[in-house]
Parts: sequence; C-alpha cells; structure tokens
Amino acid sequence: MSKQHWYSALLGRLTNYLARSLRRWPLLLLAAGLTLGLLLSGQSGLLQESGFASAQDAEPSETSPTNAAVYHFKVGDFKAMVVSDGTLSFPPSYFVPKADPDAVAAALTEHFLSTEAVFAHVNALYLETDEHKVLIDTGSGNAFGPTAGHLLTNLAAAGIAATDIDTVIVTHAHPDHIGGILDAEGQLRLPNAQFYISQAESDFWLADTVELPKSLLDEETKAGLIAGAKAILGAIQDRTTLFAMGDEVIPHIQAIDSAGHTAGQAAFLITSGDESLLSTGDVFFSDPLNLENPDWEVAFDSDPEQGVIARRELLETVTTERRLLLVPHMPFPGLGHVRTQGDAYGWEPIVWRFNI
Ligand SMILES: [Zn+2]
Repeated sequence: MSKQHWYSALLGRLTNYLARSLRRWPLLLLAAGLTLGLLLSGQSGLLQESGFASAQDAEPSETSPTNAAVYHFKVGDFKAMVVSDGTLSFPPSYFVPKADPDAVAAALTEHFLSTEAVFAHVNALYLETDEHKVLIDTGSGNAFGPTAGHLLTNLAAAGIAATDIDTVIVTHAHPDHIGGILDAEGQLRLPNAQFYISQAESDFWLADTVELPKSLLDEETKAGLIAGAKAILGAIQDRTTLFAMGDEVIPHIQAIDSAGHTAGQAAFLITSGDESLLSTGDVFFSDPLNLENPDWEVAFDSDPEQGVIARRELLETVTTERRLLLVPHMPFPGLGHVRTQGDAYGWEPIVWRFNI
C-alpha cells in the first residue's frame, strides 16, 4: 500500500462495505454497516501497513507507562476536561498537497518534527455547565485503527460514563469528530444524549446529492467521507437539534461560523462569568504547516480556498481578542493561544497545571 493513500484506502474500504450493505440491507441498517465497515478497516491495522507506526504511536504493552489522557481545568464556574481520543498521522504531501515539498520539510524540521508524518492528536472537550453534561465532538470510534478511538474509555477513567452525557455538540461531520457516536453494532454509544449540529452541516451531508468538487482529496476518499457522514447523521436524526451560526446552542455555548473545512463547520464560544474558551473545530491542525503558513491549502478542507479565508479570519480574531482556544488536533491538551509572528502566526500552549 502506498504511503500516500492509507487514508483513502480506509475510506474506500468503508465505501465498498457500505455499497454492499446497501444492496443487501434496508436503509435503516446503514448505520450498522457503517460502523462495522469502520471496525473492519480499523482493525486491519492500516496505520501499521502504511509504515506510520512510529515510536510516537507505538502500541502500549502491559508494562509500559501511560501518560495522562485527561486534562482538568475550568471555564469560569464550569468544570471542564480535555479528553484524548488518541492520535492520527498522515504524510505531509497528503495534508498540504499543493505546498512546495521543500518548504514543508523545512517548516517541519525547524520544529524538530518528522518530515515523513504529520502527527495529529484528537482532543475532545467535556464540560459541565449548570444544567448539562456536554461533550463537544465524539472522537473517532472505530474509524482509524488502534491509535485512536479511546475517548469514551478515557472519559470513563475520569469518572464520567457515556450514559452521563446528555448533550453532544458536533463541530462538523468528519469521521474523527462523529465516529464515536455509534458502536460496531450501530447502537448509540451515548444513549442519553441530545445531539446538536449546524443546519448548514446537516443540510450539506444529508442532501440527496452530495459532492465535494473543490476538495483536493481523491474520489474514493470523498465517497467515504460522504457515506460516513450520511450514515451517522442519518442514524441520529430523530434526536438531533439543528442550530444556525450565531445561535446559543445551549445556554453559555454560542455557535460561531467557521465553514471552509466543511460546509457548515461551527466553532463554539463557551462563556462562564468573566472567562471564555473557543472550541475551534478544524481550522488549523499544525503550527508549522497552518499557523506559520496559513495560506497553504489543506486537503481535508472541503473548500481549501475558503478554508484559507476561514483560517485567516479566525486567526485575526483570536489574536486580537487574545482568546483561549481548544484545538482538536494540536498536541494534547490542545489548549493555548495564537500570537502573531510576522505576517503569520505561532502557537503558545498553556502551561500544564496540577491544581484546578
Ligand atoms: Zn478533524
């Protein structure tokens, strides 16, 4: 398998599985087919086959120590945790395919990072407001093999059961953000939750005809993304509330338009007392590749040119406001600030605190 295509191969297997399921099963069983397809793909160890099983994402042994997968903090009066779902990695040439490879390698090398694989964390946010126990995004579930999909296990280890969650708010409908919603049998893993997603995001993926004409991904990968989003959003439609950009999704959590990565992606501004936190969704992923080079078009963006515009707009706003951010794919816990750096930007992670 070529290194460049493990992600598309994964989604391709998913697409093929879904196609077979659709011929054999009623539409209602689509969700089960999806998650089983994801499971089959994930357990085939694509990350290992692709050669990206670096020391960074080595399989744990029973005797190896494990670092914390939860970071406790507060937003005003609200208890909050960043909970890790695990990690993903992919080739830089797949991530920013139009950028000059030498410039990409130089940017990564400057940060002492691998030039072979962009290493991305998957961070989700748990929040206890005065009324709700909230999860923003659900991790990968079974979508990406053994290095990810650990969100609910890590949440349970921190004392929060999946059944405790009453509110799930989704930034966008990519598999590393909604893959944790259904289990391998197509059952809800968060059985007591009401789901919230933007009207624009839901309308896009659930339309009769869905196309991604501006995406830099190959057709097979696009088909996998579309099939996955349709299956999962379709399965939770009767317990989903749609919101518009600017709406207060639930008290203290406001949706902010960050479309570009997907047609209806939302960021969420969480406010309690004098404090606030912006949960960004996928607007930037890597400080060398997206903050220092914000104009490099990202393959995972549905509309890469709009992705650049959305990234520039958000970065301008959050640096002006000196806003604390939670960024899903930045190194755990993904909490930090963006600062200006010449005509681009840089990342300042928070300092780890032991007492809340
Ligand atoms: Zn993502």
